[in-house]
This record gives sequence, C-alpha cells and structure tokens, in this order.
Amino acid sequence: MADLLIDGRWVPSVTGRTREIRCPADGSLVAVVDEASSDDTVAAIGAARRAFDEGPWPQTPATDRSALLSRVADLLERDVEKIARAESLDTGKRIVEARYDVADVVRCFRYFAGMAQGLSGRVVHTGDAGVLSRIDYEPVGVCGLITPWNYPLLQASWKVGPALAAGNTFVIKPSELTPSTTILLMQILQEAGLPDGVANLVLGAGPEAGAPLSEHPDIDLVSFTGGLLTGRRVMAAAAATVKKVALELGGKNPNIVFADADLDAALDNALTAVFLHSGQVCSAGARLIVEESIHDDFVDALVARAGLIRLGGPFDGNAETGTLISAAHREKVQRYVDAAVAEGAVLRCGGTPPADPALADGFYFLPTILDGCTTSMGCVQDESFGPVMTVETFRTEDEAVAIANDTMYGLAGAVWSSDASRVQRMARRLRHGTIWINDYHPYLPQAEWGGFKQSGVGRELGPTGLHEYLEAKHVYQNLNPAPSGWFAGASAAEAPA
Ligand code: NAD
Repeated sequence: MADLLIDGRWVPSVTGRTREIRCPADGSLVAVVDEASSDDTVAAIGAARRAFDEGPWPQTPATDRSALLSRVADLLERDVEKIARAESLDTGKRIVEARYDVADVVRCFRYFAGMAQGLSGRVVHTGDAGVLSRIDYEPVGVCGLITPWNYPLLQASWKVGPALAAGNTFVIKPSELTPSTTILLMQILQEAGLPDGVANLVLGAGPEAGAPLSEHPDIDLVSFTGGLLTGRRVMAAAAATVKKVALELGGKNPNIVFADADLDAALDNALTAVFLHSGQVCSAGARLIVEESIHDDFVDALVARAGLIRLGGPFDGNAETGTLISAAHREKVQRYVDAAVAEGAVLRCGGTPPADPALADGFYFLPTILDGCTTSMGCVQDESFGPVMTVETFRTEDEAVAIANDTMYGLAGAVWSSDASRVQRMARRLRHGTIWINDYHPYLPQAEWGGFKQSGVGRELGPTGLHEYLEAKHVYQNLNPAPSGWFAGASAAEAPA
C-alpha cells in the first residue's frame, strides 16, 4: 500500500521517490515509505481545503465528532501492541516506554472527545432588549501539523485530537525519520469513519514536504513541534499569509534541588529527568541546579548511579534507556560535550559512545554528567537533546531563581524542597511553562502544555489547547433595524431639489 493519504486515498508520491526507515538501535530496515514532494503536499492541502469548505466535517454535530474521537481511542487501545512495536522500531525507544506513549495517546483522544462535547459559545449581555449578541466558536479551517521524531504518535495526537474536536481539516507531516505510527493513526481515523479529505498525510523531508504547510495560502493554522531554528523558519514563512501559529519548541530545563529536599527522591528523579529516552525529551531536566552545601555528595551519588544505567535496544528487557535517533544526532551530542569540556566543564562520567560491541550498530551515547558549569557556558544555554546533564550550584533562593531563569527557553522545570512555602515562591518566580514540585516529567492532558519565551507560542492540551484550533466569532443582531441617522444633515443638503 502506498503511504501518502490524500483525499481518502493512499497514493504514492508523484515523484516516485521512497525513503528507507531504519531502526536506530541496530540499523535494521523497518520500512520503505513514499517520500512526498512539495507538489504532493500542495495536493493534500487542496483536499483538506475542499473537505473544509464543502465537506460535512465542520458542520458535524459536536456529539458526533466526540463519538468519533472516542472510537479512535478504542481502536488505538485495540492495537496497542502493534503501534508500540512500530514506535519502538522507528525511534529505537524501549517497548515499555512506547506502551506508555500509546496509553498517553489514548488518554489524549478521550480528553478531546470530552472537550468536543463541552464546546459552547456564550451570550454577550448588552442590557438592550432590542439586541441579540453572542460569541460562537468555529473551526479555524485547514491546519498544517508538523511533528518531531522523539514522541511521534504522542505529538501527533496533541495536534490531531484538538484539530478534529474543533471541526478542522488537516494535513500532517511527521518527521521523516519516524513516520510509521502516524500512518497507523491515519488508518485508524479512516476505520473510525472520518470523512475523506479531513485527514491527509504527507511524508518526507521538512524543507520540501513540510514547507508548504507554513507557506501555502490555503493553510489557516500551522502547528509545529520541533527545534527552535525550524520553528523560527515556520513562523517567518507563516507571516506572509498571517496564519495562526502554534509552536512547541526546545527547552533547557532547570531541575533545582535544595538541601532540605527528600534527597533520595531528588536524586533518583534527577536521573529520570535527564536520562529518560536518552535525553531526547523537550522537557528533559538537563540543568541540575543544586544547593552548594550538598553538591559534592549529591553529584558523587549521581555519577555512581549514572554509570550503572543499562543501555539496550527496544526489546532488551534489561535495558533502562536506549539509543539516540541517528548518527548525525549522536555527532551533534558529541560535539556539544567536547565543546563543554573545552570551555571548562568537568566531565564526571560518560562523554562518549559505549564500548560494548553489542551496541556498536546503534547510535548509543553514555549517560554524561558535566560538573562545574555556569550560565555563561554554551553547554548550559544550548539544548543537547541527548543524555547530558550540566551541574550548577547556588547558595540562596534568589540565586537559584536567577540561574534557572537565565535562559532564552522557558518550557519546564522542577523544584525539590520540603519547605512548603519556598516551593510555592519558587513556582511563582520561575519563568517556565510547567513547574513540577518534588517530581519530574508528569503531564496531564487536562493541563496546558507550552513554553514561555523562545520555547513556544500558544498552548497544547488543556482547555486553551482546544481553543488554539477555534476562531471566536461575535454575532450581533439589532432586533429593530432602522436608519443610522448619523448623516441625515448631509444627505438632506445633497438631496436633489
Ligand atoms: P526539527 O525542527 O528538526 O524537525 C521537526 C519537524 O519539522 C520534522 O517533521 C521536520 O521534517 C520538519 N521540518 C524541518 N524543516 C522544516 C521546514 N523548513 N518547514 C516545515 N517543516 C520542517 O526537530 P526534531 O529534531 O524533529 O525534534 C527535536 C526538537 O523538537 C527538539 O528541539 C525538542 O526540544 C523539540 N520538541 C519540543 C516539544 C515541545 O512540546 N515543546 C516536544 C517534542 C520535541
């Protein structure tokens, strides 16, 4: 079967080009998929435009849209093993993590099924019996959805769920490295009964297959998750036609540990914060900011634990974390670590690929801890998106806040302390979109997700996540139409004798 979904039909690229998808854990061939050109993407946009302007979906009652999203959740649950396996093979992530991801995706579709039902406008009271005035919420139109490779299906669901709940049509382009589960999601949308043309899929490289989604005049909204530099490009391209833009970009997230914290919990979670999925998590706690008085013991213990983390492939039951996504990404992480050492960071562990020959065919990189860092260093400011923790110290609460906020990013962060007032003060003062207190990484579909500063524009998930995909329309009706009377004098003066 061909892999591009345009107007309800699975078709190959007009160019006939294909791309090999290989598992980054061992280089094995996973699939060969069609590679879209910009012409394919323009055709998909045309299909989505027609489905929005002429098709039934935007007018489908909210209860029916909700029922369809619930069916999608049921079908995802039915296929959980197949989908998790496909996600593991594309990304190299452990199958247990992929299963968690699919469970999160199911929760996301159920959440937006509920949100679709709850959608309603509001009356605007004027106090004038001769006027009716209300706000209606309507779908934005045709959405261009662009997703990254680290959580391919989860990131897709954060966009597809609210886009459909609100009655939009869309074209989605997953990362060229990890297309498989987005293909499976499109098949499930079809099986659930979504009308042709509402969901369209193109696969391929960003600059060619993806670019029309931020440039084409028939796209009304572009929602992008990925790196900061690509996000800036998408935003600039979207400006030409003043599209609605939602961006979920990178992060350089502080994980702040006070001496009065539950240190066992803080230590264990500091490892999870940064080494989960080999650090390829936008909200990874890559900056440990630890109170100076506990620094030595805390970092020694972290180094000892990091050295024990077991690396392995998706189906290795003993593995605790996996590979990086590609050779190019591993080279980037290596350059980042080398540059950090050159600028004065102290390499406490890791810093290279593992020596284990069993891992030689994958793109593994050892859990790495860089001590003695300061905010002026590139390694503290730039996202490595790999298994690399930088360590900074502070003496006072004010200093911890200043260090943690000294970044152009503002996606997420955590505070560890047993002082109930301090954690609330810190949560108020940290300029990051999600603050975890004595925890790291949990997220809820009911709560908004998004970044301050250059980590993003707009919100995904939560009630306002749905509203990103809606236009608010004010409808005002004068119940007693009459001449305005403004220019009665002028009209009388100009009237023919
Ligand atoms: P990326 O920016 O390289 O690519 C993201 C997507 O954009 C891919 O589908 C890619 O093909 C596409 N793309 C590239 N150039 C394009 C262009 N000119 N026009 C349109 N599309 C284009 O990012 P990545 O390497 O896939 O993902 C890693 C980044 O994603 C990290 O920076 C990470 O922090 C970020 N991320 C953020 C969140 C969040 O919620 N804030 C979640 C996951 C990942």
